[in-house]
Amino acid sequence: MDHQKTDAIVLRVVEFSETSCIVTMFSRKLGKISAIAKGARRKKNPYEGALDLIAICRIVFLHKSSQSLDILTEAKLERRFRSASRDLDRLYAGLYLIELLNLLTDEADPHEMLFDVACLAIARIDSDSSLKDALIEFEIRMLDLLGHLPMLTRCVGCGRERKTMNRVNFGLNEGGVICPECRSGKQNIISVSSEAMELLLRLTNHDEEKEQGPNLLSNHPAYAEVRRLVSKYILHLIGYPPRLQKYLGNL
Ligand SMILES: [Zn+2]
Repeated sequence: MDHQKTDAIVLRVVEFSETSCIVTMFSRKLGKISAIAKGARRKKNPYEGALDLIAICRIVFLHKSSQSLDILTEAKLERRFRSASRDLDRLYAGLYLIELLNLLTDEADPHEMLFDVACLAIARIDSDSSLKDALIEFEIRMLDLLGHLPMLTRCVGCGRERKTMNRVNFGLNEGGVICPECRSGKQNIISVSSEAMELLLRLTNHDEEKEQGPNLLSNHPAYAEVRRLVSKYILHLIGYPPRLQKYLGNL
């Protein structure tokens, strides 16, 4: 049993007893963790808003080595998700982000860079910046950091380089583009336009010199097509649609 101190994003809170909750968090140091927060359901509790969804907090918890639950001993709010009470689209986007973190990460599997990327995305979603850009950039970056980024420059079947920027087949099962020779017999294929491929490639290129501008990605003519493709790809990866996906209609 040892005390652990780390920053964490609150992903899920479920009632456990009359006075306690079980909180699932994505932490910087230890990845996803679940811990019991004793007294969290009391009116006067020691956590003071730190355990609200999408909040970022500094936590101390007792890490149990056996099967029993970790115990949250301290949680200090570092960043409240302010849009929760004033902008439904931003709230849904924030809830979608934490749902993805919960679905695509495992307990005790730390991803420090993903934690930082998620904190940055939450700050963007919770500000006046483009919601569409913030969300799709986060999704692509998350897929990249977790090793799920689709192959776009080579055929996933034979490894040959994609020669043209014409319409290409994208295999959801295979996770990337498929050349005409490898196409036969494959299922769950989506035909992707050259404009969408261009935007996808731009999204997956994380060079610092990336062009910046207001609504740059979401103003792209193929944005809607890429949005649909990324949603389908994530759905396919998880095996079912994330609960919040249907609330992202405006995006
Ligand atoms: Zn091929």
